[in-house]
Amino acid sequence: MRIAVIGLGLIGGSLAWDWTEAGHEVWGFSRTPETCAYALAQGMISGSLNHLQELGEQGWDGVVVCTPIADVLPTVAEVAPLVSASTLVTDVASVKGSLVRSATALCAGFVGGHPMAGTAGQGIRAAQRELFRGAVYVVTPVPETQASGLERLGILIGDLGAEVVRCDPDDHDQAVAAISHGPVWLSAALIATAREQGSLAQRLASSGFRDTSRVGGGNPALGVGMARANREAVVVQVRRYQAHLAQIQMWLEQEDWERLEDFLQQTHCARRDFRSCG
Ligand code: NAP
Repeated sequence: MRIAVIGLGLIGGSLAWDWTEAGHEVWGFSRTPETCAYALAQGMISGSLNHLQELGEQGWDGVVVCTPIADVLPTVAEVAPLVSASTLVTDVASVKGSLVRSATALCAGFVGGHPMAGTAGQGIRAAQRELFRGAVYVVTPVPETQASGLERLGILIGDLGAEVVRCDPDDHDQAVAAISHGPVWLSAALIATAREQGSLAQRLASSGFRDTSRVGGGNPALGVGMARANREAVVVQVRRYQAHLAQIQMWLEQEDWERLEDFLQQTHCARRDFRSCG
């Protein structure tokens, strides 16, 4: 397929790289020309566009918008008149709900997507091969979504070695608030608290701290972007954390070791039910 990836950062660069290696002809466009030059030099893409308008000069099977969340809709609006109605236009934004409905209204070939993989890195130099192998890649069709676009996106996801999971855009946002957007703030609070403890805590931090701090120590613009775009669901999560922590605090103060162990027994078992933790 002939694919254009818009926004070459951690996710866009990694997708472009895997699709190039899978034999697709991948072109890239990013905000800064140096980014495209780096992606070309690394062999992530086989060509680059200097302006988004150049999309209109050639035919495309797919256009994949990998910009920060706030730039997705304006980019789709710019892309829509430049491509044919049968071109797949998709995004990778971590929030779907109203974004998918607005993008579908703007662009007939739009299909919402969200690859469930990432690192604490950002920008093109953080891009890596095979980031999505074995991961879930969510697709969020709505009634107006074209079947041909959905099918084409499924083929591209298969070429990454990822697994397609299809769900409603609003259901997606509720679920990721619990497993991704909310935990960013819980993990950030943990880092801030440990930092207040001082330098000995910093020196002793090991693999446990590395695991629990990863998402709170990631890309700040992405964390805020997710919270802005999925605010209500994230607020609900923060409220639930507070309720659990208040309960834990009470049991600790009362030295109720039985209830505390019971709680950890439940979370120990429940963790196995989450993908990638089993
Ligand atoms: P990132 O590493 O910061 O990459 C985004 C890149 O887009 C930037 O490096 C920038 O490149 C370029 N860019 C910014 N504004 C642009 C614009 N208006 N037009 C064209 N290019 C633009 O961020 P990311 O982590 O890859 O996130 C990108 C998208 O993936 C977001 O929508 C996010 O929700 C989604 N996502 C992220 C993760 C994750 O864990 N990181 C996981 C799944 C999905 P230059 O300025 O250098 O050219």
